[in-house]
Formats: sequence, C-alpha cells, structure tokens
Amino acid sequence: MIDRIKQLEQISRKLEPLPSERSQWNKAVQEYADKFLDEFNPNTTFVISEEMGRAIYDFPIEETGKSIEEILDILKDNVDTPNLNPASGGHFGYIPGGGVFTTALGDYLAAVTNRYTGIFFACPGGVRMENLLLRWMCQMVDYPADALGNLTSGGSIANLSAIATARDYKGIKAKDIEKCVVYMTHQLHHCIQKSLRIAGMSECIVRYLPMDRNFKMNPEALNRQIEADLVGNLIPFMVFASAGTTDTGAIDPLEAIGEIAQKHNVWYHIDAAYGGFFMLSDKLKKAFKGTALSDSIAIDPHKGLFLSYGIGAILIKNTAALYQSHHHTASYMQDAFTLEEEPSPADLSPELTKHFRGLRMWISLQLLGIAPFKAALEEKVLLCKYFYTQVQKLGFEVGPQPELSIAIFRYIPDETDANAFNLGLIENFKKDGRVFLSSTTINETVWLRFAVLSFRTHLAQVDLSLTLLKDMVKHHH
Ligand SMILES: *Cc1c(COP(=O)(O)O)cnc(C)c1O
Repeated sequence: MIDRIKQLEQISRKLEPLPSERSQWNKAVQEYADKFLDEFNPNTTFVISEEMGRAIYDFPIEETGKSIEEILDILKDNVDTPNLNPASGGHFGYIPGGGVFTTALGDYLAAVTNRYTGIFFACPGGVRMENLLLRWMCQMVDYPADALGNLTSGGSIANLSAIATARDYKGIKAKDIEKCVVYMTHQLHHCIQKSLRIAGMSECIVRYLPMDRNFKMNPEALNRQIEADLVGNLIPFMVFASAGTTDTGAIDPLEAIGEIAQKHNVWYHIDAAYGGFFMLSDKLKKAFKGTALSDSIAIDPHKGLFLSYGIGAILIKNTAALYQSHHHTASYMQDAFTLEEEPSPADLSPELTKHFRGLRMWISLQLLGIAPFKAALEEKVLLCKYFYTQVQKLGFEVGPQPELSIAIFRYIPDETDANAFNLGLIENFKKDGRVFLSSTTINETVWLRFAVLSFRTHLAQVDLSLTLLKDMVKHHH
C-alpha cells in the first residue's frame, strides 16, 4: 500500500507546479493577455466565422495535459476570436460589459490564495472587505448605515434574492400567491419575470402599468391600481422600478413610486443593474432621487463599474430580512448573526462556498481611485448625447432624449420596409466588424440601440459609428 501511495503522490504532485513551471505558465498567459489587449482587441468587435469555435471539440479532455502554448492557441482560435468581442470599445450592443484589467489582478490573487469569504471566522478581513464594498454602494444610494446586501454573480441573481427576501418578509405562502400582485412596466428587464418564476411566484398577478412618452412608469396609474387591488381583496406585494431600462436607459420616477409604495406598505424594488453606478457622479445623481425610499436595489459592478463579468450586488435596507430568507440553519445561526462582529455572506446568499469576488472590486477601486470611474461614466453620458445629436443630422429618426447612455434611433427609407431595413443595418455592422449594435422592438417598431458603457469607448469609436451609418444610408435619401 505504501508503494501505491508513493506512486500516486508522484503523479498527484503535478497539481503543484514547480516554480520554474509556474513562471513559464505565468509568462505565456501574460503574453497572451498583452497581445489580446494591445494587438487583437482594439480593432475588432464582431468576427463572422464559419467555424464558430467548433474545433474546441477536437481537443477532448485527456489523461495527460497539453502544453500551455497549445492550450492558448485553442483558446485564441475557438473562444477569443469568433463572434462578439465585449472587450472592444466598438461594442454598443445590449449593455456593454466592462473588463478593466485590475479585475484580473484581483481574480488572480483570489484564486491563488483561495481565501474562503463565506463565513466571518474563516476570513474576517475578506468578509469585512466585501461588507465595506456593500456599505459603500449602500451609501451611494442613500441607504442608512445599517443597510447591507450581498455581492452576487450578476444582476439577475441580485433581483432573485430581492424577490425571495420580499416574499418571506411579507409572509407570502404558497396559498397566497394567486392573490399576490406585482407592479411593473413592459420596459422592466426580463430577468424579473424569470426570477418570479424561480421564486415560485409565477402564478401571481402581474399589472403592467402605462408609461409616458419617455417610457417611464406613470405613478398615478400605480396608485390607482394598488387601490383597486386592495378593494378587490388582493395582496399588493411588490413594485418594480427601473433606474436605467435596458431598452432606452429611462429612469422611472423613483421618488413618486416610493411614496406610493410606502403609503400602501408594498415592497419597493429598484432594478439599477445597468444605471446604478451613474449615481457616483454628483451631476448625474439628481435623476435617481428617491432611491432612499426603496427596500432593495440590484446593481451591477460588471456593468457601470466596468469590472469583468461575474459581479453584481443586491443592496437591502433591512439586513435582517435578507438574513431571514437566506441563512441556512434557523436556531444557532441567529445568535451568530447578532454576536459576530460582521454578517457573513453565506447567511445573506444562496451560496455557501463562493468566489471571493469582492477582491476584484476592492483592488480596482484601491488601485485606481474613484475619479477615473466617475469621469468615464460622465464621458459615456456625453458621448451618447453627442451621438443622439449627430445621428439626427444624418437623417435618422430618434427616440427620447437619452437620460443616461442609451439612445434609440432608426432610419426610415423611402422605398422599403423600415423594420427590415434597420435590421439589415445590424447585419452590415457585423460584416464590417468594427462596431457592434443591437436592436429592440417597441410597439412593433424596430429601433437600433446605441448603448455606450464600455470603458474603452471614446469619441473615436462614436465618430466611427457615425461614419459607418452615414455610408450605409447614403443611397436612401
Ligand atoms: C443586465 C441587466 C440585468 C441582468 O443582470 P445580469 O448581470 O446580466 O444578470 C437586469 N436588469 C437590467 C436593467 C440590466 O441591464
């Protein structure tokens, strides 16, 4: 047996690379990353490919490993080339993500040290770090000092956590669900519907409220609807507002909605996954007045704080309510919650073992300071305004004046169907590859969206987009 153990040890020790191997791998990966950023990345946003990464199947998982060079080649050809390159400053589709380099440094260290930050006693400093970041965001949205929340993998999970918390806090049981009413507009992000279903609430009643011309919820209609539902013996449960819709970046009238929600004792949730970090700028913060009245807010550092994919946050005013829905054992953890100096993420989230995702955010903010983030956010808003003005000069019709960094626009050609024509423009952009745009349909009208949120988007990329658009429509005047 000892022989076998020793034999196995020889092989299993490969899991701990030698310092020389470590440095060789580090060097190769670093070179790849540098090449990606300096040569490959800046010029391409979309690459049309026949293969679409299919050759990844030609390299099955085997008994023995491959060389780092071979692995990076497979990665480059199959993963980092075909289709959308979200790291490009020419990405204006959907909600562009971030990818600031400092995220990688935080992730690298988190992976190497592998500190466990689910429970306070295991890594008190790491839990304090994550709670500090949550409190920093809570302060930004004008929550009280004892508010907290949880760092999640993204906005969808953040919204799900809020719904589960509200459901339990309001004492909603299965038998009540058919009488529960939720309030939203058709512009609310689809992940809320998905989360309601996952939370076992798909049978609740959904009231879609009317909007004004700028796609913002009509608060009077909300008030009337809640009153009618109370008369009808229903349970007004949750109102969802958007602080930056995905389609147009519209911010619902947060304060008016908050006053109505408070009056009727309805849980008030704000989806600020896209728009929340614009509050970092004092100039832009005014538009978000009323966040203090909400019970919970979803916000995405992998969008508005430009971090790489994989970090969102749910902010909750009543920390105990979040704990009640998410802690794992009822009896003794309740004392731990009050006795420990800091709440543990594992008690405020469905996760137990978790990625130490706070480190990537903390190291980025510590290393760069807040100023460049604020500047980038204000820059994106102005770039979008600039685009909105210029694109009209090219003969495009536009949607509402952008409040944040998303504009919608479309071209109405003389001879062909407008919807088909505008969808065709999207295809033209893909073929060119330098700029990527996505579209949306509002009341059966196709609109192109210009969503500025990549930290790599500057004036040059916006001007390039305008030049491309000008060329594409020049024969249609
Ligand atoms: C992106 C987004 C979401 C979903 O967040 P993920 O991080 O993609 O899970 C929800 N709401 C809004 C408004 C968004 O922009």
